Amino acid sequence: MRVAIYPGTFDPVTNGHLDILKRASLLFNKVIVAIAIDNEKESLFKIEERKKFMEAVVKDIPNVEVESFDGLLMHFVQKKKAHAIIRGLRAVSDFEYEFQLALMNKKLEKNVETIFLMTSSEYAFLSSTIIKQVVSLNGNINGLVPEIVEIALKKKFNWEKA
Ligand code: ADP
Repeated sequence: MRVAIYPGTFDPVTNGHLDILKRASLLFNKVIVAIAIDNEKESLFKIEERKKFMEAVVKDIPNVEVESFDGLLMHFVQKKKAHAIIRGLRAVSDFEYEFQLALMNKKLEKNVETIFLMTSSEYAFLSSTIIKQVVSLNGNINGLVPEIVEIALKKKFNWEKA
């Protein structure tokens, strides 16, 4: 039973995240999405909402589970007896930080591999941050996030969903 953890803040989940997740679910017996409760970052959506969106969008993928975690990722990975951490890579700019993180995680737990999946070209520009910026200015994000997220974002910024 090969288990992978896909960690992130997912504030909120985008179609870019979902694409990585679907592809990872084909490579492992089980993928656990680990949503960081995160005290450092100011998140737009509370952990309960981020988890609710994620659960709604993965409900049709049978080998994907959603959990939240606090503290060190590697402690969560050990607790779940996972074999790998999944990360998505977009531009070169992602690489330096991800490389550092992967090496540190390897130092913390040498038996766990970090697996990088390249973004699909249609989502290469997508991040939760840019989505929030565009919605805050009433821009169209149709097709870039799941519908449940689009509705919640428009409500959050007081734009009615047409
Ligand atoms: P963090 O808060 O750690 O930056 P995110 O929640 O933003 O994490 O993203 C979680 C993971 O998904 C990261 O590995 C990130 O690189 C990846 N990711 C985010 N957006 C995309 C995308 N459009 N295409 C591929 N991977 C992505």
